[in-house]
Amino acid sequence: MKYLCAILAAIGTLVVPAGIDAVQQRPPLTSPRLYVFDCGRLEGDPVRFNLKREEMATTDMSVACYLVAHPKGNLIWDTGAVPDADVKSENQPTRYHIILPNTERYVTLTKSLKRQLAEAGYTPKDINYLALSHYHWDHTANNNDFAHATWLVRQVERDAMFSAKLPDLVQASTYSALKNSKTVIIKTDDYDVFGDATVVIKSAPGHTPGHQVLLVTLAKTGPVVLSGDLYHYPEERTLDRVPTFDADAAQNRKARAAIDALVKSHRAQLWIQHDFKGNAALKKGPAFYD
Ligand SMILES: [Zn+2]
Repeated sequence: MKYLCAILAAIGTLVVPAGIDAVQQRPPLTSPRLYVFDCGRLEGDPVRFNLKREEMATTDMSVACYLVAHPKGNLIWDTGAVPDADVKSENQPTRYHIILPNTERYVTLTKSLKRQLAEAGYTPKDINYLALSHYHWDHTANNNDFAHATWLVRQVERDAMFSAKLPDLVQASTYSALKNSKTVIIKTDDYDVFGDATVVIKSAPGHTPGHQVLLVTLAKTGPVVLSGDLYHYPEERTLDRVPTFDADAAQNRKARAAIDALVKSHRAQLWIQHDFKGNAALKKGPAFYD
């Protein structure tokens, strides 16, 4: 009986209350895990991508956020389109009207990023590194929640984000706290985040001046490239179209050729972050790829 009571008491301490603050016990990792979070469905406009509606499977875009959990630390890659503070429901798909300095967009979202992180066993405080594919509003919505983390960014991209004349398609209020973050300025084409070549940020400029992609090499899944906005729609790749709003379209084409060659030589999967159908087929947190 004494032993039974001891066992029951031990089990009792493992019960975690439900809710956003509930964080599961996490076993130490021996290899990286990649979590994909659903950060919404963005209503897109083919014209902005030099595409016609009839050429495309869908004009909808996914918005994806990613967590790389590595034995040496945790990296968040892109933080969504809708700030968690604006999220009205944690279980109902809700359509949000996003008002940008010169335009507007609609995004449908079911769950906040922090809720999805919590379901995977993480809070923002557990995140050691923040990296963005680029500064556009649909990748920065929750940046301020990660201002305590070390920001990995290229000088040209950071300069644009805090310049007096802001580039189009940024929502500066969503990343203002990064101004004082501990920051690593990436000066090389490749940046090996944890020093073991499993998580490498790669330069892919053109869409924005400091645009980058992430190569994650997983033990079972193999190498995966998170595209940022190197491509948005998969038809940009198959039909060879570039967006109308690239910072430098010729530079983007060069970056595409380099990353496509990398994908081929590494036999990597290219996960186009805004590819609605491609992203829908991926498992979402708390499930993960390893
Ligand atoms: Zn985007």
